[in-house]
Amino acid sequence: MPLKIAVAGGGVGGMAAAIALQNQGHAVTVFEQARAFGRIGADVNLTPNAVHALDGLGIGDRLRATAARPEFRISRTWDSGEETSRLPMSAAAEEKYGAPQLTIHRADLLAALESALLPDTLIFGRRVADVCQSDDGATLIFADDSREDFDLVIGADGIHSAIRYALYGADDPQFTGLVSYRGVFAREDAPDLPNLDSFTKWWGPTSDLQIVTFPLNRGKEIFVFATTGQKDWTEEGWTLPGDIDALRDIYKDFHPEARALLMACRDVTRSALHVRAPMPRWSEGRVVLLGDAAHPMVPFMAQGACMASEDAVVLGCALDSVDPAGLPAALERFADIRRPRTTRVQEGSLANDWLKKGGNADWVYGYDAWGAVKDAAA
Ligand SMILES: Cc1cc2nc3c(=O)[nH]c(=O)nc-3n(C[C@H](O)[C@H](O)[C@H](O)COP(=O)(O)OP(=O)(O)OC[C@H]3O[C@@H](n4cnc5c(N)ncnc54)[C@H](O)[C@@H]3O)c2cc1C
Repeated sequence: MPLKIAVAGGGVGGMAAAIALQNQGHAVTVFEQARAFGRIGADVNLTPNAVHALDGLGIGDRLRATAARPEFRISRTWDSGEETSRLPMSAAAEEKYGAPQLTIHRADLLAALESALLPDTLIFGRRVADVCQSDDGATLIFADDSREDFDLVIGADGIHSAIRYALYGADDPQFTGLVSYRGVFAREDAPDLPNLDSFTKWWGPTSDLQIVTFPLNRGKEIFVFATTGQKDWTEEGWTLPGDIDALRDIYKDFHPEARALLMACRDVTRSALHVRAPMPRWSEGRVVLLGDAAHPMVPFMAQGACMASEDAVVLGCALDSVDPAGLPAALERFADIRRPRTTRVQEGSLANDWLKKGGNADWVYGYDAWGAVKDAAA
């Protein structure tokens, strides 16, 4: 029986969930607070587990039209430049996991997802303020005080989720003491630098210092991410300007190839990194959370968008053939399947030692979101 479903938040998780649920015949509307998608942010890293999930939604060709395919995932030491691990990520990952790693501009990923939605699914400029529910349904309350009734409400509204707040009350994300910087440069601006076709992490002398770099836009651009410990600056945002000279100065003792990455960036944005501890529940009745609303994580395993994509697919499978009366139990089943994995990734991201010296990446990259519900029932 088709359900009438609202998704709060048209980010990666929200739109992916909408596609998964529309593909099963449900009537889905996505409410996004932004008036339009700007070309905001930059990088999104999609490891094979996420590409496998998104391929099944039918957007694989769109992703590959603009994404880059990193050749290797490399770890290097900040001063000597020594390689401490090198994992093949392109054809070898495709053979092993059924999908490659793709790195893509967030705007291109959102455009690919939007292209797979039915017309009029995504409504811009509608900010969700609250949700309430009865035994029969859930009501979304918007910032303009209007209301709409649904069988099910999905909170995919990011780290500061209004839906999470409505379900579980105030619990602000914690500042980690780390500030992240993001920049992009044209590959032709640094033609002699090695490994620009790979995902490389430069591990600093302390855990607050690291540089991550990988190709975007089919390799024509190179993305650079770096962090510093800065206890007195806590602002979040994707467009706040950072001081590139101050950043270069902090990294002045790094290997020349690492410094050259920062030299190639003309400017950077900066954003303080926040986290929240894993939550014991993600659903109440007919309202459920997914993505950053349920499990925000620091970016040190590069799995934020990947976990949101997996959530979306698993939620779609968990709601296959569910009737309205069975919804609360199906939502709990979904959360029970996903929570152990996202908790492990949240904790691993915070520990910040993923693939530092090699190790087996199969438990992350080899996950089959499409089989997770069946696997859990077996
Ligand atoms: C503008 C922006 C730029 C980003 N840039 C990058 C980047 O460059 N690199 C990177 O790794 N990650 C980036 N991220 C984060 C990354 O995309 C997410 O961590 C990840 O994809 C998880 O996705 P999500 O769908 O759970 O949450 P998000 O991607 O954060 O999506 C949440 C969506 O909900 C909307 N929303 C929030 N509150 C409400 C509300 N009350 N009512 C209606 N809509 C609401 C937001 O506008 C957003 O579109 C960015 C996120 C945003 C919002």
